[in-house]
Parts: sequence; structure tokens; C-alpha cells
Amino acid sequence: MLRRSFLLGAGAALALGSAAAFRRWQEITPVIHAPGRMEGHFLRDLKTLPGPSHEVKTDVAILGSGVAGLTAAWKLNREGHRNFLVIDGPQAYGNAAGGSYGDLAYPTGAHYLPLPTAESMHVRELLHDLGILLRNPSSAHPYYDERFLLHGPHERVLFEGKWHEGVLPKEGLPTWELQEHERFAALTAKLRQERGADGKRLFALPSTASSNDPSMQALDRIGMKQWLQQNNFRSPALHWYVDYGCRDDYGISHDQTSAWAGLHYFCSRGGGAENAEDGTLLTWPGGLSPLVAAMDKAAGSRRRPGTVISVKEVATGVEALCVEFEAGQVRSFVVKARRAICAMPLFVAARVMPSLRAFGFDPQSHMPSYAPWLVANFLMREFPQERPEAPLSWDNVVYGSKGLGYVLSTHQDIRVTPPGKTVFTAYHALAGQTPREARGWLESAAPEALLELASQDLRAAYGLQFSRCVERADITLRAHAMCSPLPGFRSNAGLHALRDADGAILFAHADLSGFSVFEEAAWWGCQAALKVLGKG
Ligand SMILES: Cc1cc2nc3c(=O)[nH]c(=O)nc-3n(C[C@H](O)[C@H](O)[C@H](O)COP(=O)(O)OP(=O)(O)OC[C@H]3O[C@@H](n4cnc5c(N)ncnc54)[C@H](O)[C@@H]3O)c2cc1C
Repeated sequence: MLRRSFLLGAGAALALGSAAAFRRWQEITPVIHAPGRMEGHFLRDLKTLPGPSHEVKTDVAILGSGVAGLTAAWKLNREGHRNFLVIDGPQAYGNAAGGSYGDLAYPTGAHYLPLPTAESMHVRELLHDLGILLRNPSSAHPYYDERFLLHGPHERVLFEGKWHEGVLPKEGLPTWELQEHERFAALTAKLRQERGADGKRLFALPSTASSNDPSMQALDRIGMKQWLQQNNFRSPALHWYVDYGCRDDYGISHDQTSAWAGLHYFCSRGGGAENAEDGTLLTWPGGLSPLVAAMDKAAGSRRRPGTVISVKEVATGVEALCVEFEAGQVRSFVVKARRAICAMPLFVAARVMPSLRAFGFDPQSHMPSYAPWLVANFLMREFPQERPEAPLSWDNVVYGSKGLGYVLSTHQDIRVTPPGKTVFTAYHALAGQTPREARGWLESAAPEALLELASQDLRAAYGLQFSRCVERADITLRAHAMCSPLPGFRSNAGLHALRDADGAILFAHADLSGFSVFEEAAWWGCQAALKVLGKG
């Protein structure tokens, strides 16, 4: 399927007769990045462990520097516990990392954070400490730094050759479909307020604050598409929109997504602010990477390079054997700690920690499924010409596409001084095939095929002028980008067991929630730090 889309793209360009534009297209050689691939292969092919060349001692070893690991580091530091060390793993900042072309920053993973609700007090505290939330963190409407509140135009969708404001088209559809859209919006607004028999909100963040009402467990047993059908939602546009939402947050289609998770996407987020509308997003040109960099700094920047290849409990605590790759050489060292916070994804933890079963997590039956993603950054030498109907927005989506649209990195700056150059970040979750097939394709695909897939929404939006405007393309392949909330994920006993671990080894990663958003990763980082501090 992916190969076919490449051929169609090339054929269409020739048919339009612009040989020059097509040649320009062929001249773009994307730079491919695959964080963790080299380390993953090293681990997979490892026969004997290299002996450590030196020892590093610390009280708490945080194994992984993603959102969860850095939240744990920030919390420990904030509470005065400074004797800790963060081991980066293959990619500092993990799925919240970013990059830059000179002074133009861009994300290579997460790009926004909705205003936290009152339940996400751990995120509000963090944002307050970092000077992003400026006043009244406990009130219903805290005050945020305006520079990070997403300003308009927020989003638009390309539908039948024209841009429309919003993600769901409001024109050009039959009345019955528009009525269904209104019914869906009203129903999700109602569910957002509702509470279960236990008094908790049905859909909250962190997800552990959500109701355990039996009706919610039942919802988790069916797929989101099935739920739509059961509730007599038949509109193709609505199905596309909900499917888009599931792919955007979970990397899987709406027939694969647990209905609980599918509704959680629409009903859980949307905190208030004194100086913005409810549900406004926080964003930075580099996506969430500046936020995570600020967390790192606030935690005292106690990070060092290294990839853990084995972790074990010993009489004095924990020992983690790590490797460092430098100029083709592998060096190893051992980290000795009283406690360790395992902040790496669970599929990695299972490889480096044969004792994972002893915690109640059986890799065979409890391992979540991981969705592969591709994130492409295009340095634009100039802004392409826009169609007249709706202006270039922060998020730009193509109706019916299997892509997830593209984000404008300089959006927050445009109000002040429109830059000459910009970066478009295109997202694509490979939901159309099994994760294993998609990973195989990512591993073997030629750079041109990756470029073809990564740019499909941008080419739909701008046609042949797109290639003329591209100065450089960088594609980041995330083969195990995020765990996917398949039906039944809320009852995964293995994940529950790891959340409860409270010995020498603790766990913190978005994987513990069974789905991947900033608030969940930060929650588990906070929980692990509180356990270390004796407050958990
Ligand atoms: C493409 C994409 C877009 C996203 N967009 C958003 C968004 O807009 N908003 C949002 O809220 N969420 C978004 N998410 C989800 C969000 O990025 C994650 O929930 C969050 O970053 C996860 O943080 P984490 O610490 O749990 O895990 P990870 O980001 O997976 O971090 C794991 C860390 O472990 C390290 N590690 C791995 N192996 C080892 C090893 N052997 N030894 C030591 N360390 C190791 C890694 O180097 C990394 O530092 C997105 C995710 C992706 C993939």
C-alpha cells in the first residue's frame, strides 16, 4: 500500500506536466533519524555483556530521560533530594524531543499540552514551578504566560479542495450528518461532566482519577467504532474525525481503540485559564521539547549519556549495567544505587530486566502493543502560497487522509514578526497495517518512499509548489512510538502490578497508563519520586 502511494504521487506529478517540480522533488534527500534503532539492535544481538570499565554511585538512578524520568528528577530536586542521576538512554527527552534548523526549532515528537484540569494538579505544580503558569495554580482558572497559549487560527481542514475552519467540516455535508455531529458534540460535553457511582469523573487525567464504574469497564471491552455504531452514529465525516482522533492520540484506528480510550480523548482534557478559553493548548515552536528542557534545568541537569543493558536488584539496592557508544566504540559502566526508577518503555524494560515477571508483569501476556510513527520536519525556504478560504493555521489537516496533517512551528511567532522561513512538521501514525508489518516497512523503506508518505498531506495542500519551497527534510522514525489502548487495556493486571511496585526498583513511564500523553507520563514520574521521598 505504501509503495503504491509513492508511485501514485510520482505519476500525478508527471501527469500535471511539471517536470521541473518533479525533478526538484527527486533532489530532496531526506535525512533519516531512527532514535533507539542502533541501541535496540545492539541489545537484540548481544551475546556477552561487556565488563564495566568504571562505577558510578548515586542514591537514586533514574533510567530514562523522557517526560516521566524528568518529572521524577524535577520532583526529587524540588523536595531537596539531590542525590540522583538520570541516564538518558538512546534519546534524551524521548518522545518529547525536538531539534532546530539554526534558530528555527521544531518537534520530533509531542507538540502540545492542553491546559491541565484541576485533577492534573501535578502538571499545574510543574508549570507553576517553571514559570509557565504564573498565578493561582489551585484555582479553576489559573493565569498562564500568554506566549505559550496557542493563539488563533488554531486548526483547519482541507475538504473537497477547500480549507474549512476546525477539523470537522461544517459545510458541504448533508444535514443529517451535521445533525449527528451536533449530537456527538452534545453527548461528549455531557460525558465530560458526568461522574460514576464512585463519585469520580468518568474520564479524568491522570487516568487513575477516572471512575471505575462498571459501565466504564464495559466501555473498555468494545472498540470505539463499535460504540459509535451502537449509538447510531453513521456519518462518514464523524467516523473519519473520530478515527483521526484515535490515530492522533493513540496511533491506532478507531476500530482498534478501546471505546473508553476513544471517549477519553474527547472528554478528559480541557482545563480553564483566567486569560484563555477553556481547553486552550500550550505549545512552543519546538513542540514540548522546550518544556522538557526547562524540567531538566529545574531538576539540576543531572543527566549523563548511557543505555542500560541490564538491571538487577542486589543486597545494597540496584545495579544497572550501561553502555555508551562513542565513535564506533562501546564502553560500559555500572551504576550502583539504593533505588532505581525504571523510566524506559516496557518493551525495553522486559529486555534488560529478566526479573520483570517477579513484579507481576508477564511480558508474554501483559506487554502493550506499540504503534509506529513517523515525524517529518520540512525546512521551508519560503511560505507556500495559500488558498483563500482559511488562513494557514497552527494545525492543518487533510480530510480523508491517512496522515495526521502538519503543524506550523513558527505559529506562535507570526503575530509578532512573520519569519521569512518556517518549519512544517508532518505526523503520520502507521495505523493501516499491523505494528510488526509497519516496523518492517520503516526499517527497509528507501528514503524516497519515507519522504513520499511523510509529505502526502503537504502535497495535497500545496501541490507542486510544495517541493519548490522545501529546503531540507528530516524524518524521525519512531518504531515503538507509543503503547496503544486496545479494548481491555484498563484491566491489564501487569500494568497495575508495576504501578504498585515499591521496592528497590520503581517504574515510571506513560506505558503504565496503557496510553501515552504528557500528563500520564508526568503522573508516573511524580508517583515514583513520592515513593522515594517516603510520601507515596
Ligand atoms: C509522535 C508523537 C507525538 C506526540 N504528541 C503528543 C502531544 O502533542 N501531546 C502529548 O501530551 N503527548 C504526545 N505524545 C506522547 C508523549 O510524547 C509521551 O506521552 C511522553 O513523551 C512519554 O514520556 P515517557 O517518559 O513516558 O517515555 P519516553 O518518551 O518513551 O521516554 C523514555 C526514555 O527512556 C529512555 N530509554 C529507552 N531505552 C533505554 C535504556 N535501555 N536505558 C536507559 N534509558 C532508556 C529513552 O532514551 C527516553 O529518554 C506524542 C508521542 C509521539 C510518539
